[in-house]
Amino acid sequence: MEHAEILHRCFRCGYCKLPGSYLDLNCPSYLKFRFETYSPGARMWLLRAWLDGEIQTSPHLSDILFSCAACRNCVEHCVFTKFKDDLLNALIAGRGELVNEGAVPPMVKDYLEGIRLYGNPYKLPEADRGNWAEGLGLVPYAGQEYLFYAGCVGSYDGRGQKMARAASSLLKDWGVSFGILGADERCDGNEVRALGESGLFEMIARQNIEKFQSGGVKKIITLSPHAYHAMKNEYPKFGGVFQVYHYSQILAKSMEKGRHISGKPLRVTFHDPCYLGRHNQEYLAPRQVLRALPSVELIEMDRAMSDALCCGGGGGNFFTDILGGGTDSPARVRVREAAETGAQVLAVACPKCAKMLEDAIKAENLEEKLRVMDLAEIIKARSASN
Ligand code: SF4
Ligand code: SF4
Repeated sequence: MEHAEILHRCFRCGYCKLPGSYLDLNCPSYLKFRFETYSPGARMWLLRAWLDGEIQTSPHLSDILFSCAACRNCVEHCVFTKFKDDLLNALIAGRGELVNEGAVPPMVKDYLEGIRLYGNPYKLPEADRGNWAEGLGLVPYAGQEYLFYAGCVGSYDGRGQKMARAASSLLKDWGVSFGILGADERCDGNEVRALGESGLFEMIARQNIEKFQSGGVKKIITLSPHAYHAMKNEYPKFGGVFQVYHYSQILAKSMEKGRHISGKPLRVTFHDPCYLGRHNQEYLAPRQVLRALPSVELIEMDRAMSDALCCGGGGGNFFTDILGGGTDSPARVRVREAAETGAQVLAVACPKCAKMLEDAIKAENLEEKLRVMDLAEIIKARSASN
């Protein structure tokens, strides 16, 4: 197994499951299940014992490995600098071994089947993929400066579609030159990779790269931080070198267009998406957007930026739901934390976070106090009231 040589180095101090303050539990799976085996360090020990034949393959072992949300808190906070960068890579390699053995949880099998057979985890027709853009007057990609990539959640999920429509129409209003692929778009593969199916991920990446290159795409704006991560950091390994931007970065660059947008005073707190923040160290762009809006007050949660608590939707869990719900689910803990700031809006920059946190607000009966809006939805709502 790749990275097997680092497994014995973990000395189980446990810092990897905490934020920098050591005051909370910041590994979503440990937070939810409260058993040491669901902590990052213990996963290293489990993998080592499994590779050494001391424990057998079992559904329980699979559940433990596949409940990781790939949030990277452990990489950020592990105290052992010599191997911490490969902590998550080792876990993904372990998942890969289970994928090869066919020993994955049923929900993971179902997710991968959806991607293999339908090109999307919703198992919906590829022909419907561009429906999210209906009525917006967006044009197919034909050599514009950017390709706007909506992704599976932005294309098929109702909450994701709302966000894709807000972000793309705002970019259009602000004069950004872009086109979309519509029904020709395909899954970016980031969750497939995080679930350990490296062969399928390579196939998806190569197909996308070929499509982008043959269309002359040089610059990409992604709605999702997950697609941003895959295209920016993984596609170059297969020859796909593009200038990849998350939509918050394009908005941040264009905020002179938003400076005149006034509105009622609004208290906002921001939830850092793991694949934008910890995976790519982009903490500033979304905050630049919010701080540039007149009458918007940004209030940080105790856990912000590199200490942010994941919503629990990463690493495939948005679809597989191995973490499950309940009061200790990361999304519900996170919205309680957001509500404690006194913010009226929980701002997000990822369609998966939007859906996870919106559902959690309903489960917590916080709808009267707090609502989830993405950066573009906030700007558009304030523009409409001008
Ligand atoms: S912080 Fe690093 S060394 Fe300590 S338990 Fe976690 S993975 Fe192991
Ligand atoms: S990546 Fe996140 S969920 Fe996975 S083991 Fe590390 S801290 Fe826990």
